[in-house]
Amino acid sequence: MAIRNIIQVGDPTLRKKSFDVTDFGQKTWQLLDDMKDTLIKANGAGLAAPQIGVLRRVFIVYVDDKFYECINPVILSESGLQRGEEGCLSVKGKYGVVVRPNKVKVKAFDRYGKPFIVNAEGFLARAFCHENDHLNGVIYTDKAEFVEGEN
Ligand SMILES: [Zn+2]
Repeated sequence: MAIRNIIQVGDPTLRKKSFDVTDFGQKTWQLLDDMKDTLIKANGAGLAAPQIGVLRRVFIVYVDDKFYECINPVILSESGLQRGEEGCLSVKGKYGVVVRPNKVKVKAFDRYGKPFIVNAEGFLARAFCHENDHLNGVIYTDKAEFVEGEN
């Protein structure tokens, strides 16, 4: 278990597309455990592997006291719209207003390679969309209506 450094916007790694995970063993478990420690320390709602410099399709979300570990996630469907504030651990001290789907159905694999489906709504749906974007090199500021905060 270790706390990793969260890379900040401007680092080209954040703009790269991540690769599928093919190994559901120790190395991936270590990554997930480190991401969890890092997220808790940073007091965030979600963290994607590229944010710690690992270009793998992995993210974790922590909303309403519940942890979700998602490997090779796919958003199967989305519906409705919500407009709300968003921040990112890789864009320190800022927030922006982003329109996201209000509901999403996400399919992913757990650390043992077992598939599962989450039906997320509201802020949880927002968190899934935000983290999934990171796996494609997209940062919320790309989609925000405006961004505020100190620079
Ligand atoms: Zn983020």
